[in-house]
Amino acid sequence: MQKGKIGVTAENIFPIIKKFLYSENEIFLRELVANAVDATQKMKKIASVGEYEKELGELTIRVKVDKENKKITISDRGIGMTQEEVNKYINDVAFSSAEEFIHKYQDPTAIIGKFGLGFFSAFMVADKVEIFTQSYQEGAQPVHWVCDGSPEYQMEETDKQDRGTDIVLHIDQDAEEYLEDNRIQEVLDKYAKFLPIPIAFGKKKEYDEQEGKEKETDQDNIINDTDPIWKKQPTELTEENYNEFYRKLYPMAEDPLFHIHLNVDYPFNLEGVLYFPKIRNNIEVQKNKIQLYANQVFVTDSVENIVPEFLTLLHGVIDSPDIPLNVSRTYLQGDPNVKKISNHITKKVADRLEEIFKNNREEFENKWDDLKLFIEYGMMTDEKFYERAQNFALFKNTEGKYFSLEEYKEHIKENQTDKNNNLVYLYTTDRDKQYSFIENAKQKGYDVLDLSGQLDTHFINFLEQKLESSHFARVDADVIDKLIQKEDKEETQLSEEDQNELSTILKTQLPDIGNFTVTFEPLGEEEEPLTITQSEFMRRMKDMAELGGGPMSFYGEMPDSYNLVVNTNHRLIQKILKNKNNDLGDELSKANNEIKPLQDEKNRINEANKDKKEDDMPQGDKDNLGDLDKQIGELQQQKEEKLTQYGKKSQLVKQLIDLALLANNMLKGEALDKFVKRSIKLIK
Ligand code: ADP
Repeated sequence: MQKGKIGVTAENIFPIIKKFLYSENEIFLRELVANAVDATQKMKKIASVGEYEKELGELTIRVKVDKENKKITISDRGIGMTQEEVNKYINDVAFSSAEEFIHKYQDPTAIIGKFGLGFFSAFMVADKVEIFTQSYQEGAQPVHWVCDGSPEYQMEETDKQDRGTDIVLHIDQDAEEYLEDNRIQEVLDKYAKFLPIPIAFGKKKEYDEQEGKEKETDQDNIINDTDPIWKKQPTELTEENYNEFYRKLYPMAEDPLFHIHLNVDYPFNLEGVLYFPKIRNNIEVQKNKIQLYANQVFVTDSVENIVPEFLTLLHGVIDSPDIPLNVSRTYLQGDPNVKKISNHITKKVADRLEEIFKNNREEFENKWDDLKLFIEYGMMTDEKFYERAQNFALFKNTEGKYFSLEEYKEHIKENQTDKNNNLVYLYTTDRDKQYSFIENAKQKGYDVLDLSGQLDTHFINFLEQKLESSHFARVDADVIDKLIQKEDKEETQLSEEDQNELSTILKTQLPDIGNFTVTFEPLGEEEEPLTITQSEFMRRMKDMAELGGGPMSFYGEMPDSYNLVVNTNHRLIQKILKNKNNDLGDELSKANNEIKPLQDEKNRINEANKDKKEDDMPQGDKDNLGDLDKQIGELQQQKEEKLTQYGKKSQLVKQLIDLALLANNMLKGEALDKFVKRSIKLIK
């Protein structure tokens, strides 16, 4: 018997390993099964080149749980190890890598230490580990190695008959969950589902009619698919094969839109199948479904920092031995291989989308609504992807027609270029709420885009930076003639006084839901008398604040601001003016007549002093100005009071404002109820 001390300086590394990795301790099984797979594949290789004369025999790897004796055994029929090899690979190499781990652990910035512990991860769950191994080599002595978690081990000859290795774990008290079949099944499902050598865990169960319960059969319960789809040639596979595999990965999900089969062997190794899932909204829940494998061993399902952010929305499998896994996540981003892989995937994704767009435009359009979020996200976050995607990204208009960006530009160029040579993209975020505005725009022969998606607010801002001399305007951001200004419009015919008075009257009936600015436009007879619009800029800022918070949240706090656009050409507006003049005309002109000389006097004083600094103005003039202001103010206030009283009583004003609110879905609750009742009364 050989006794020895493992060549590590840290006195007892195992408690540290145990504690540090505790939350991840299930990976012990992955490490041990992966070792068994390696040994078996090496055996197959040796046999295939004719260096092994005997029968290979069955190669299934077996995982057994012995709950009673608190043991887990992992057996393989791989190459096994000679005594020298145990010395070399386990006692020296493996222990020194465990020691290396400890060093790295002491420098927490370097490594997370989750990977690469290999065989020694067994000590995360076992207080004693045994190896029984018999090398395939002619005349080799079988070896029994045992170590109880201190840096001391024992090694002796044993009488193992069969080629290969049994690893026996004596499960520690605090890891007894691994003595449950279900738990082991779960861990195997997670990490070993696609390993290339069959792995048996117990026997298959079948429902026994007679006994009325599940019974074990004598068939092995093979937990893995040794030949997963990504290892096959795309030419051998049908669409249904790909969909089947997708369902295996995500049993609850809807069928995907497309897939991409990745297969690169130079300058790095990468295989896999990626799927475009249907993404409608809520992108967060779609993220991080890609499973990352290294040589068919499951590693992780969080691929952020390995692929660009937007690609984490894809589903599927990536298998690459070239992604370094024993380093921290932030370090991964800088790794040249990871960069190459990630660029390659981005390119492949763009290739695939462009191919479908070019060869099967109809299919592409049918799937666009489910793809849109992904593509917009990619365009905004990845410049390389933007460059490609600008050729196949689509706009959908309110008629349900699809255009590429270039096609759309051509489509609206003639009609929607304003007097400053800016191309105006009209859009709606809600076809029901903005219905009347959409109709108005269409009547003018304009096209309206449907940009109601989750990311569209950001996407619009983004495109405005990308597209030259173009801007986006929501249909209700102003009256349509102002959104796309063709030539300088004649100014409104109303006198300043009429405008001020009308504005005071209208304001008396506006609801208390934000700030309203009243503006006057000589629009067509056919257009609405009053329209409520919301400035594009403020609204967008508020939308962004809602989406993103951060520095924008300041806008979120601001009250909503609206414009009340008065169509001075409309007969009902003319009517309000006429009524006002009839009812208040005398009183108003009396007040105006009193204000006029005061104002004239004020102007005269200001004119006389216009070259002087404020301090040099004679005291008398200063006093006069003060008096005049006071008198004018009082008269104005009297006037306003009259107009306010008048406005509050006017049913016509009330009715017109309610109609404008109604057209914007802003009339609610009590106000709506009153409107309905009043309207009924008005019907004669
Ligand atoms: P790694 O697998 O990363 O090399 P491990 O610590 O897991 O590190 O294993 C160390 C070495 O021990 C392996 O490289 C292999 O040579 C040997 N080994 C481990 N398990 C087996 C096994 N089941 N059969 C044969 N050799 C094994």
